Amino acid sequence: MTRSSEGLPKVRCVARARIPTTQGPDIFLHLYANNIDDKEHLAIVFGEDIRSRSLFQRRAGETQRDRMIRGAYVGKLYPGREVADEDDRLGLKLEFDRETGELIADSRSTWDGYDHDTLVRIHSECYTGETAWSARCDCGEQFDRAGRLIACEHEASTGIVGGSGHGVIVYLRQEGRGIGLGEKLKAYNLQDLGADTVQANLLLEHPVDGRDFSLGKAILIDLGIHNVRLLTNNPDKIAQIEQPPLINCVERVAMIPIHWSSEDAGIHSVEIEGYLTTKIERMGHLLQKPLKLHSKTTTTTTLNPA
Ligand SMILES: [Zn+2]
Repeated sequence: MTRSSEGLPKVRCVARARIPTTQGPDIFLHLYANNIDDKEHLAIVFGEDIRSRSLFQRRAGETQRDRMIRGAYVGKLYPGREVADEDDRLGLKLEFDRETGELIADSRSTWDGYDHDTLVRIHSECYTGETAWSARCDCGEQFDRAGRLIACEHEASTGIVGGSGHGVIVYLRQEGRGIGLGEKLKAYNLQDLGADTVQANLLLEHPVDGRDFSLGKAILIDLGIHNVRLLTNNPDKIAQIEQPPLINCVERVAMIPIHWSSEDAGIHSVEIEGYLTTKIERMGHLLQKPLKLHSKTTTTTTLNPA
């Protein structure tokens, strides 16, 4: 395993594209290569001006069209546009170091990741929860909520200050806390046989949590993000991300399960209750379970989760 001088993996953004979404704002999907695995890790970036340093760095022999095709352009593409580094319609222009070709981050055209506290989620892939409608975990709900919080100015129901259209969801391809989908399906069968999520991993001789967030940290640094408001309940994630000087976690924004405060929304299943209980009681996640005062009625009171 090769690590850079800061002890982090080396990452390089291969391509970026604008994705119009069904939820409102356009997002910019960034695909990353790295030097520790061959998976296609992603960054879902809200804000055209959050720029990958590795993507935008000028390369020998490339044309302006090459730069536009890989997504290293400022502003917005339109039919017939010829220059990547300048958008004459929007009056935006990028500058580069003459010797190294590195992007010079000018706050008029590039998000200042030191000046702003950026709302960030580092999310691990969950095929079952995000695509196959699984009610065994809340990954899909957390992913959706992270996007909504980054897009909004302020969430009325919780008072959480949103990202107002600026933020990043780093999407790491580490299914099943790093054990892969096949082993995760076996773990589900063990859970149906009575194990909890921690015991199931141990019975399969896997670590309880095999995830590594260093790639996520390296991707944030490549995007010029330094002061982070991290959307998580996971103390291990905070410990892996927060060490200054490269990244400073200035705030933890709690991810409260939606069904704890709503009878109609969120995930309601026997399995999700067991999953969340195990996360809290055995993995130290920073949540407090709602106190159910009357288990046979619909009344549920949520204690202060922070
Ligand atoms: Zn999941």
